[in-house]
Amino acid sequence: MSTYVQDFADGSMAQKDLLGGKGANLAEMTRLGLPVPPGFTITTDACRYYLRTGKVPTDLRVEVTQAIRRLEDTMNRRLGDFHEPLLVSVRSGAKFSMPGMMETVLNIGLNDASVQGLAEQAGDERFAWDSYRRLVQMFGKTVLGIEGDVFAEELDAAKTAAGATSDTDLDADDLRALTVRFKEIVREQTGRDFPQHPREQLDLAIVAVLESWNTERARLYRRRERIPHDIGTAVNVCTMVFGNLGERSGTGVAFTRDPATGQPGDYGDYLRNAQGEDVVAGIRNTLPLAALEEVDPDVYNELRGVMRRLEMHYRDLCDVEFTVEEGKLWMLQTRVGKRTAPAAFRIAAELEAEHLITLDEALMRVSGDQLSQLMFPQFDRKAAAKATLLTRAMAASPGAAVGRCVFDSQTAHDWAERGEDVILVRRETNPDDLQGMIAAVGVLTARGGKTSHAAVVARGMGLTCVVGAEALDVDPAARRMTVDTASGVVEVVEGDVVAIDGATGEVFLGAVPVVPSPVTTYLTDGVDAALADAGEGDAAESLQALVLAVDRLLRHADEARRLRVKANADTGEDAHRARALGAEGIGLARTEHMFLGERRVLVERIILARDDAERDAALAELLPLQRQDFTELLQEMDGLTSTIRLIDPPLHEFLPDLTELSVRVALAEERGESSPEHSHDLEVLAAVRRMHEANPMLGLRGVRLGLVVPGLFGLQIRAVCEAWADLRAKGKDPRPEIMVPLVASVMELHLVRDVATAIMAEVSAERGVRCEIPVGVMIELPRAALTAERIAEAADFFSFGTNDLTQTTWGFSRDDVEGAFFAQYTANGVLTVSPFESLDLRGVGRLLDIAVTDARAVKPNLPIGVCGEHGGDPESIHFFHTVGLDYVSCSPFRVPVARLEAGRAAISAVGHSDSR
Ligand code: PEP
Ligand code: MG
Repeated sequence: MSTYVQDFADGSMAQKDLLGGKGANLAEMTRLGLPVPPGFTITTDACRYYLRTGKVPTDLRVEVTQAIRRLEDTMNRRLGDFHEPLLVSVRSGAKFSMPGMMETVLNIGLNDASVQGLAEQAGDERFAWDSYRRLVQMFGKTVLGIEGDVFAEELDAAKTAAGATSDTDLDADDLRALTVRFKEIVREQTGRDFPQHPREQLDLAIVAVLESWNTERARLYRRRERIPHDIGTAVNVCTMVFGNLGERSGTGVAFTRDPATGQPGDYGDYLRNAQGEDVVAGIRNTLPLAALEEVDPDVYNELRGVMRRLEMHYRDLCDVEFTVEEGKLWMLQTRVGKRTAPAAFRIAAELEAEHLITLDEALMRVSGDQLSQLMFPQFDRKAAAKATLLTRAMAASPGAAVGRCVFDSQTAHDWAERGEDVILVRRETNPDDLQGMIAAVGVLTARGGKTSHAAVVARGMGLTCVVGAEALDVDPAARRMTVDTASGVVEVVEGDVVAIDGATGEVFLGAVPVVPSPVTTYLTDGVDAALADAGEGDAAESLQALVLAVDRLLRHADEARRLRVKANADTGEDAHRARALGAEGIGLARTEHMFLGERRVLVERIILARDDAERDAALAELLPLQRQDFTELLQEMDGLTSTIRLIDPPLHEFLPDLTELSVRVALAEERGESSPEHSHDLEVLAAVRRMHEANPMLGLRGVRLGLVVPGLFGLQIRAVCEAWADLRAKGKDPRPEIMVPLVASVMELHLVRDVATAIMAEVSAERGVRCEIPVGVMIELPRAALTAERIAEAADFFSFGTNDLTQTTWGFSRDDVEGAFFAQYTANGVLTVSPFESLDLRGVGRLLDIAVTDARAVKPNLPIGVCGEHGGDPESIHFFHTVGLDYVSCSPFRVPVARLEAGRAAISAVGHSDSR
């Protein structure tokens, strides 16, 4: 029984772990009876063995021999045969697509003898030598590690010598001579001959593909896409078919729907008389798929049939790579295609409307991250109409990007490091440009179609991208481009600002202002407003379809989710925005900003008070101001809960800076000053010195502060109660909650509760109403989580402050570490993502789990939520659902994202898997 090799005919799409995405899908297409050239897959087990030991498994050699023999029998051709040679391609293919990141070698099996056989078989000597020189070139670069430019220069020299402008102008003799020269290069550069034995070629190519798993660019790509480093790639060995056999041959890439907008209908690029890599590399400008219909309607119709079948089978957008060899269609690859955020929403909603998938499935196919991309602003159309349009090219990945032009990846990276927004402009991109693409806010290329490297990678990254801008003449060496515009030639040099619109393909000189996207209009003002806002014409239709898709899926998420979504909002204005975006209350109102600005002097007076009377006077002045703050919040959230957190930061934050004050006092003393200001400064300085802490975030803050400075919490609690009573008197429905921060011991909570109970009793008596406001606690210290059972007894609700809980669990200072050493910690693998961004499930998550379980053991109905930054993070939301929280609270703009993800979490928790 074979362990490392499986024929295409024996596999299925369910085996992506073992066969990689490409191998599993080739097997699936073979199983469906689609025209796939025969071949076999070397499994990811073999790669993992190689990664572990640095050797290929010994059994693999035998299994490859057996598989090759089966292939030879099927094809009735032999590897290396003088008359009817079998040629194969060797291609990588991991479980997750990594476009262009790993290696491919075509035309394996050609040598000095079999090149004659290929010429005979094809009746075309030029083609045979072109294929052979491509093999030596690709093999030399990929397998033997020779600089690609060495071959490219030789090719240019051959063209000059023959007076040719394009590769296709070289004849058989030119190409024969070029192949000889390429082989000499191999000898010069490696000290050995180009291997003539096809099996040696094959074995070396297989190892080269396995090795390419760990190249720098592949590792970078995986880090970015969060693909594990240990899963390895499969290697697909496939019978060669030729798209470069003349005008009735060609190669293409196609999608069953437009991957940029989601618009239904076949979509793709086709290149006549070309081999596969030519399309993806974006080296030659491609023709639209419709051109194939004119050249060869039968093949076109067959291809459309295959694509329809694939879309129905996978029940999703599929992309395909195909080759036409003298009028015969061959399918070389299919997969569920990458798509932009708008396309993801539109395709999911429309497949559901076509009854090809369920609404639950549709929701599982979009993500919160995609929704947040749709909320990005777009160019203001009116301003764009007046801006200098340089050109209009292909819209490959949406967004509105404005930045300085740079013409190479290194500069993109360097400029971005110093905080510049850059647009990377290239003739075409290749995998070595990944670093620059990551650094850039947008990518613009002069060549290539919607399936070129730049387009595919940018779409995957959610990066704005315009491709195929033929009007651009890009000169990377001179760091400039010239653009042929309607009003003459314009020169753009490195550092000049351009604006690119990834939804329309427009490229502007200079900055263009941006406006809210129709999806944001939808989220704040509803469907009708957004549809009206979309304008008119084709682009408007597409935007309208998008708005309807978002509406359908978000409404379904709202129906499906159990988690409620609240917002972190501190002002009436924030609360208003949050409510418009669907927030079901305020989960955290931070009150500290209410003590800054003009009110700071009052806080100073509270701290510096020499006796109760002085302090009470300052507190009394603050009370109406604070009551007004809470009234505004509660009014905006009428009928919904507003969780107001008592003051949290270290008190010294409300006092002047120690150094500044020391300098002022020292200078005044030198001048011998004795003004009242100076005496005041002296007094404040003493207080600041007294309160100075080495680690203020672990010092006198939160509940500790409230217990140490008399009257401070009391003032806030009274302001909440009075605001409540005022609004009740006006017939409103205010629902405040009081939340105590940084509690570590239940005793702290008891003490605050006692104050609260007394104040509520006073306000009840004063106003003649029963004032009973829930008092809850933030769980943001490990001790609080571990003693949750005791704390729950004294609390009306829990809210996890996962920012502080992360800080105190890891012992990471949240204000310092991200800038200090997280980059290194991510590079060396200690962290895959910042624990401040996505909850650390193993550590912080475990504390959370313990706290929820223990608290619910004593109070089964205790409301529990989260209000740290993680409340808006998609991955963390799924965890909060699973662990049984009642709500998440996040910043207003994350509210729609959290609604969507909470819906997805509920659906995936009932075991809904994606069956594609
Ligand atoms: C937290 O610690 O998670 C929290 C929400 O409080 P803050 O960020 O204000 O410390
Ligand atoms: Mg906190």
